[in-house]
Amino acid sequence: MRSKRAAETVSRNVRRLRHARGWRQEDAGQRLGSFLGEPWSKANWSAAEQVGKPRQKPWTAVELVAMAALFGVPVGELLTAPSCRACSGAPPLGFTCNVCGVRAEGGEGRG
Ligand SMILES: [Zn+2]
Repeated sequence: MRSKRAAETVSRNVRRLRHARGWRQEDAGQRLGSFLGEPWSKANWSAAEQVGKPRQKPWTAVELVAMAALFGVPVGELLTAPSCRACSGAPPLGFTCNVCGVRAEGGEGRG
């Protein structure tokens, strides 16, 4: 389903953008509150970054706009798969992509 794939792409991008800024999930959730009206809990954020699970987050337009504002990127960027074909910008947790150098922190997303 195309729409589900789009939601997965958003989740990957959100994780990638958060890592690029060095924000913990709870920090990002707090910042998001400025754009969404209320902050997200760490659990909310964590669930939103999950990809390919049966309960893939169905992103809403409001959430997409808030995320774009939070990260300072066009909404379209959230919907576009990253250019790295090896990892899609989101290597498995705890691993670093040999191609693009993106690193996925294990577990709690600290650092
Ligand atoms: Zn990569």
